[in-house]
Amino acid sequence: MSGAESDLRSRFLGCLVGCAVGDALGAPFEGYWDHQLPVRDDLLAGFAEFEGYPRGQYTDDTQLTLATVESIVGRRELDTADIARAIAGLWKHQSVVGPGGACTFAANAFLRTGDWRTCGAPVGQAGNGTAMRTAALGLYFLGDPEGLPAAAADVSWITHQDPRSVAGGIAIAAAARRLAATESGRGPALLDPSTFCRAVAAAARPYDAVFAEQIERLAARRDEDRDAAVAAIAWAGSPRPEFERPIITPYVVPTVLAALWAVLRHPSSWHDAVSEAIGLGGDVDTLGAIVGALSGAFLGISAIPELLVASVRDSARIQALACRYHELVVARGVRTAP
Ligand SMILES: [Mg+2]
Repeated sequence: MSGAESDLRSRFLGCLVGCAVGDALGAPFEGYWDHQLPVRDDLLAGFAEFEGYPRGQYTDDTQLTLATVESIVGRRELDTADIARAIAGLWKHQSVVGPGGACTFAANAFLRTGDWRTCGAPVGQAGNGTAMRTAALGLYFLGDPEGLPAAAADVSWITHQDPRSVAGGIAIAAAARRLAATESGRGPALLDPSTFCRAVAAAARPYDAVFAEQIERLAARRDEDRDAAVAAIAWAGSPRPEFERPIITPYVVPTVLAALWAVLRHPSSWHDAVSEAIGLGGDVDTLGAIVGALSGAFLGISAIPELLVASVRDSARIQALACRYHELVVARGVRTAP
């Protein structure tokens, strides 16, 4: 395997393992306010226990991500109907940890009808259940960026028909693809915030132009005063602030903006990006999963603390899946320039 190939494999590993580790770090603190969370360094020192699960347990965000990738690897192609079957299978086997309402609705509808085009939760339910699972999906399009938006829209549509959720699913897939495609070695220097945000926004724009505009504005928010940026992100897409303090709810607009903002603020540190995201409070297992996956896709698995890689649940299985996914995508052809 060439140096470039092993670097790319490390990014696939970083994306999938980073998702599971970030998810498992956030899960014990889902719904907490920022001031109730452990201090940053304690947060990433090791996995905390929750609800009787073993330490290192990940949740629905990672389960749906793995189901998506397992479908692609198993069929050696992206087949939306098969991904819907794989996702619904998690509900059939009642194995979902902390499932969201829209995904539960969609999975039950799919199990009744077998039709991925009609089973998604209706417009008005604009949760982050799409964006939480599409980072890894984005890597499938390393050689085919033009094919990403429509395919990520279909995969998002399985669970959510609201255009904001569809656009959010596309945005995270496009962000992961771009991060993994950015030339290695000089990575952080090449993550130009304006270029990055413009590209991510362009992929989402045909599905929700207002949301795309908010993504494009993130490039400037990166250098804004932190409290002002967090408040603007937390209430983006809402008519007025929902609570007295900013918190990231499971609404897809703030979730996606917060995740991209955390990666832009800390492009060279997986630890800092993930602790920044979880430190915002709220839907922190999802924030941890998305930012862990995005930062891992950029920096590779070696950027994730070794202890966490070793002790996250199903680490060996996830790593084996990432390697098979990498082989499949390389066989399809990869373009390294963003
Ligand atoms: Mg979750």
